Amino acid sequence: MADRDYYDILGVKKGATDEEIKKAYRRLARKFHPDVNKGAKDAENRFKEISEAYTVLSDKDKREQYDRLGREAFHFNGGGGGPFGGSPFPGFDFDFSGMGGGSARGRKGAGRVSDFRDIFSDLFAGQGRAAGPQRGSDVEAKATLEFGDAVRGTTLQMSVQIQGECANCRGLGNVKNHVCPRCAGSGIAPATQAVKVKLPEGVSDGQTVRLAGKGAPGQKGAPAGDLLIHVAVKAHPFYERKGNDIHIELPVTLKEAATGGEIDVPTIHGPVRARIPAGTQSGQTFRITGKGVKSSRGAGHGDHYYRVMIHIPGQLSEAAKKKLDEFESLYDENPRAKLKTGL
Ligand SMILES: [Zn+2]
Repeated sequence: MADRDYYDILGVKKGATDEEIKKAYRRLARKFHPDVNKGAKDAENRFKEISEAYTVLSDKDKREQYDRLGREAFHFNGGGGGPFGGSPFPGFDFDFSGMGGGSARGRKGAGRVSDFRDIFSDLFAGQGRAAGPQRGSDVEAKATLEFGDAVRGTTLQMSVQIQGECANCRGLGNVKNHVCPRCAGSGIAPATQAVKVKLPEGVSDGQTVRLAGKGAPGQKGAPAGDLLIHVAVKAHPFYERKGNDIHIELPVTLKEAATGGEIDVPTIHGPVRARIPAGTQSGQTFRITGKGVKSSRGAGHGDHYYRVMIHIPGQLSEAAKKKLDEFESLYDENPRAKLKTGL
């Protein structure tokens, strides 16, 4: 690690306020966090450097010391040499081993660790925070469902990025007396977790399902955040959903439309026998009540609408054409009688 000035590392002026330092750190930590730059060694080194600079500059005493003595006054990562030969500078103690994940039983710097926690919890959750034990952050995820799974409801096994105990330091924030590079001392890092998610019957495209308590764990016994699943539903080849109603186009033959009859109408609940009245026109819509989607928010089902479309065979034999000629000669009705030509 090059011996760059801590202020330079964070890109702030020497007289920067605490808020400016915090802001600069957050911006850079977001950019160079190892979870964002998987496997990139440069980013990892930058992240360590940024974390180190912030550790010192965010602490009033350490910052004063640094301003007077420079970087040699500090001992990180066992390297660096300097006048103190890598041993901790008297007066500074970077040994966090007395501080368990998040509890305030630490020695010096306990406040600093909670600063880190503050920063990291909004680094990934994007939420403002107040002091004191904090409810865990909400975690958001996206699920794309097959049409049928959404209608019936389904259980998903999802991989979700949730903040939890840092796997590298087991939540202690330090490894062998050095700030944990993965979580920068916060003891908290995002990790991929397998989550079983139950989505209710009738969940719809664009809906957000909130699973209480399945988000990030809270601090110091505070409740966990929620898991928000943003649901997308794939289109179905012939069922179209509008709210909890289902719409389909139902092809019928010329004879079925003309003379009427009973037809098995496909619905999401299986076929339903329904009557087509004699003289049904193409485009006429009928409804079967209660055969739509069950509401995900309460009782009741939507309805099933079917729009009759008269199907004309693509291939007609000479004999069939002759029959049609005969058929048309048997009635005298001009289907375009009501239309005028021109404007
Ligand atoms: Zn860690």
